[in-house]
Amino acid sequence: RQILELHQVSKVYGDGTTVVAALREIDLKVNAGEFVAVMGPSGSGKSSLLALAGGLDSTSHGEIYVRGTPLSALSKAERARLRRRAVGYVFQDYNLIPTLNATENVSLPLELDGVKPAKAQRQAKEALRQVGIEDLAGRFIDELSGGQQQRVAIARAIVGDKALILADEPTGALDSVTGEEIMAVLRRRADAGAGVVLVTHEARHAGWADRVVFLRDGRVVDQAIAQNDPHSL
Ligand code: ADP
Ligand code: ADP
Repeated sequence: RQILELHQVSKVYGDGTTVVAALREIDLKVNAGEFVAVMGPSGSGKSSLLALAGGLDSTSHGEIYVRGTPLSALSKAERARLRRRAVGYVFQDYNLIPTLNATENVSLPLELDGVKPAKAQRQAKEALRQVGIEDLAGRFIDELSGGQQQRVAIARAIVGDKALILADEPTGALDSVTGEEIMAVLRRRADAGAGVVLVTHEARHAGWADRVVFLRDGRVVDQAIAQNDPHSL
């Protein structure tokens, strides 16, 4: 079952005078249960690819399908609803709401989507438990360290059985042991049937993936089956 497809996707940024081709004719498919790592040098298009896949920005050419639905066919409101319902996104800068506590940050997208508050908070606490910070559930964001905030952002992305989880360098603020724990969390989401796309600089983390996609200058230059996936042995 296919969760995500990029079909001949190109992305050009431009302000009229300068033009940057960030992605060029990308083809990529991610199935349910599949964990794909995206690697490549700075500026190769990794963040752009993820942002497009999450419907945060629109393609210049080509089409993106989430669970078979072409994103270009959706209105802005429908895209926002799809994001809340089916897509978990870990932003590089977390994008947490400082006036809410950790639990509320995680439960809010569920509640906006119509999940009853009690259920949403139960699911939020479970997600916080999975990322190892259930004891910080009542803390406000500015009372948390960078690494703890990053774990809240990851909890928000995995809460409520998302079909697609997109994570942009989700372990940058974490020590290596916690980073590995987070990889295990993402691996478990994939094993439970989610499609997972992880942007990472760390070859060690790519080892948790089923497949590694390498970008250079906005093109896919190589795809490899992960060699050291501890779960494939
Ligand atoms: P990566 O995540 O691999 O570092 P990005 O997707 O962030 O790559 O960037 C790819 C290219 O697109 C780079 O040349 C970057 O400067 C450019 N770029 C990314 N976002 C924008 C933007 N909003 N406006 C203009 N150029 C951008
Ligand atoms: P990374 O390389 O880790 O992806 P960047 O520093 O390239 O991070 O990008 C951070 C943010 O700035 C992204 O949202 C990206 O879209 C934007 N950005 C990157 N390059 C440019 C650019 N040349 N002009 C405008 N925005 C940019």
